[in-house]
Amino acid sequence: MADPKGFLKTQERELPARRPVSVRLMDWKEVYEQGDMATVRRQAGRCMDCGIPFCHHGCPLGNLIPEWNDFTRRDEGRQAIERLHATNNFPEFTGRLCPAPCEASCVLGINQPPVTIKQVEVSIIDQAFANGWVTPHPPERLTGKTVAVVGSGPAGLAAAQQLTRAGHTVAVYERDDRIGGLLRYGIPDFKMEKRHLEGRLTQMMAEGTRFRAGIEIGVDISWDDLRARYDAVIVCTGATVPRDLPIPGRDLDGVHFAMEYLVQQNKVGAGDDILGQITAEGKHVVVLGGGDTGADCIGTAHRQGALSVTNLAIGKQPPVERPENQPWPMFPTLFEVSSAHEEGGERTFLASTVEFLSNESGEVRAIRVAETEFLDGRRVPKAGTEREIPADLVLLALGFTGAEADDITGQLGTRFDQRGNIERDSDYQSTAPGVFVAGDAGRGQSLIVWAIAEGRAAASAVDRYLEGETELPFPVKPTDRAISI
Ligand SMILES: Cc1cc2nc3c(=O)[nH]c(=O)nc-3n(C[C@H](O)[C@H](O)[C@H](O)COP(=O)(O)OP(=O)(O)OC[C@H]3O[C@@H](n4cnc5c(N)ncnc54)[C@H](O)[C@@H]3O)c2cc1C
Ligand code: SF4
Repeated sequence: MADPKGFLKTQERELPARRPVSVRLMDWKEVYEQGDMATVRRQAGRCMDCGIPFCHHGCPLGNLIPEWNDFTRRDEGRQAIERLHATNNFPEFTGRLCPAPCEASCVLGINQPPVTIKQVEVSIIDQAFANGWVTPHPPERLTGKTVAVVGSGPAGLAAAQQLTRAGHTVAVYERDDRIGGLLRYGIPDFKMEKRHLEGRLTQMMAEGTRFRAGIEIGVDISWDDLRARYDAVIVCTGATVPRDLPIPGRDLDGVHFAMEYLVQQNKVGAGDDILGQITAEGKHVVVLGGGDTGADCIGTAHRQGALSVTNLAIGKQPPVERPENQPWPMFPTLFEVSSAHEEGGERTFLASTVEFLSNESGEVRAIRVAETEFLDGRRVPKAGTEREIPADLVLLALGFTGAEADDITGQLGTRFDQRGNIERDSDYQSTAPGVFVAGDAGRGQSLIVWAIAEGRAAASAVDRYLEGETELPFPVKPTDRAISI
């Protein structure tokens, strides 16, 4: 039962401070200060335990938010983490990285600032790790069935943990040299330090999940062989094909996809030496694209010592306040000022890049941009508005077009849908029997919370496929999308 007057006693949202920009730019640590539990408890106490908790529907995992808010308010951390883990394998990831659609659908948010749900979530799991409450849950008996999970991002990890705990023998194959997918090599440490990933992998290994890094399925082991070796396969290979910008000058030195750049810095952060690392040090940097990936490039460039950082987006600047056509409880598209934006640089909207310009050595020296105008619903450069922006390093953060096609299609006969994703039915099964698809590989580039939810659901489908029945939860269907009215 929630505190009936909590939301009246505490009307403000209180979040931990971000470290001062000048200090945090000198290191790669997370930007937030450690929150204090008294503030977290006050915020959790603002939850009204509504008759219809819309936040449940806002969260793709169906997190039991009012229940763990109440345990937190009462300082019952062990019960809180038990309820949180009931629906979410990895709250330390979502509590740091989720854009929190739950908060957009919080009932308090209709006429007050919503409960700081994401902050409560991360505080519960951080306290649980600190107190040693996160322990391995190995299965009581083994089924004798084997499952291969291909790809070790959040979808693959969630599926593997669910199936290992259900008693199946699970191996996770990853082509990178380290486990974690985009949690490892996409997302920079200033958003989530890798120790959180390591902590969870330690638990998973103790439960019996086996990890095989540095093995690319389709190359080192064929998809056919893998299917023959295991009773079921789950494909969690992500949506890794970057959207390109094929304009004049695209092949100049110094024009790179964002992921080439972010992976290298994450490897350096892990202690690797990268010969000829792409770095922003002493350069004018232009980042094309306004999403999470673009923001991660901006924060990385500032920490590497860029001379200037310019971020260009082709579309309009989103509104600051919820617009009328995206009413509560929808998850609105708003102008976001992430921690990386706060750290400097210039953001320009309605900017269409026309050409990359070269110096005498074949390196990029500037980009030519024009204002965007809308003609018959298309975005085109407006004549007469072109200007040059100096650029020694250009990073393309224009999104991803879908999953990689060649090997899996040729060797297993899976099909792709019109959006470039691997086709699957309502039970996550692809057109190849016994081969399931979860996360960005089937959904397209999305969010960590959706990847975990799909990994959990695909695990449930695989368990039923192998055993004829299952007790594992099935939180989302492949066709589910963010809350709409
Ligand atoms: C730079 C960046 C920042 C982001 N920031 C956020 C954020 O702040 N919050 C958020 O919610 N979402 C964020 N996202 C999106 C989020 O990271 C993804 O939606 C999520 O990681 C998808 O999980 P996944 O498990 O489906 O795939 P991925 O995390 O992409 O993992 C797929 C893995 O499969 C491996 N793989 C591929 N093919 C093979 C093969 N043949 N054999 C073996 N292994 C293979 C890949 O190497 C990779 O490790 C971000 C994305 C990017 C690119
Ligand atoms: S996972 Fe995301 S949507 Fe779900 S409760 Fe946490 S912050 Fe909210």
